[in-house]
Amino acid sequence: MDAEVFRAWIVSAAGVIEANRDHLTQLDAAIGDADHGINLSRGFTAVLGALEAAGAKTATPGAILTVTGNTLISKVGGASGPLYGTAFRRAGKVLGDTADVDLPALSAALDAALAGVQQLGAAREGDKTMVDALAAATRAFSQAIAAGASLDDALSVLAEAASAGAAATVSMQALKGRASYLGPRSVGHEDPGAISTALILGALRDAAQAGR
Ligand code: ADP
Ligand code: MG
Repeated sequence: MDAEVFRAWIVSAAGVIEANRDHLTQLDAAIGDADHGINLSRGFTAVLGALEAAGAKTATPGAILTVTGNTLISKVGGASGPLYGTAFRRAGKVLGDTADVDLPALSAALDAALAGVQQLGAAREGDKTMVDALAAATRAFSQAIAAGASLDDALSVLAEAASAGAAATVSMQALKGRASYLGPRSVGHEDPGAISTALILGALRDAAQAGR
């Protein structure tokens, strides 16, 4: 997967976030403060502008993810900006100057993204956050790679595990973030950040499959 695939990923993620902006905001209205879709839409719009402005400086997958992370951190208020920003920055750092990212490198980058989110936000699996989608996805992804899955299959596993991880947040009580203020009343709703994580990883699968 080269820089064009990673660029296509971010463009596709921005599109899917925009298309789901109101849905994400409604999910956040139920257990938060009704701004998740607005936050991410603003953030990814800024990311598209930053990638365009950076032009030739974003010639590698790592540089694209680093610009994405830096922009999300600087443009998104709310918990999700620094968390997603850190995730993309950590992933970009692991990829370094690699021009063509293979499955093991992508797996290492996504593991680093998860570690960054957990280091910053201290959420564990089961706390009803984006970690529930990201951890399920990275685990299934590395298992698929170890089992010899093709690129297409491994990325499908990644995206599907993220969606399943997000769906599993419905029955959880939130222990981190704004939703935790609701205590037991947070049960019975999807976590907005877990759903947006599933959308973003679904965009990665779509971009990689379309680029070949
Ligand atoms: P805010 O909660 O500040 O309004 P957003 O609405 O943009 O920010 O994002 C909310 C999402 O952020 C939650 O649905 C959850 O997935 C994620 N989140 C919040 N706190 C944490 C945390 N400590 N660790 C991981 N994810 C978190
Ligand atoms: Mg919110």
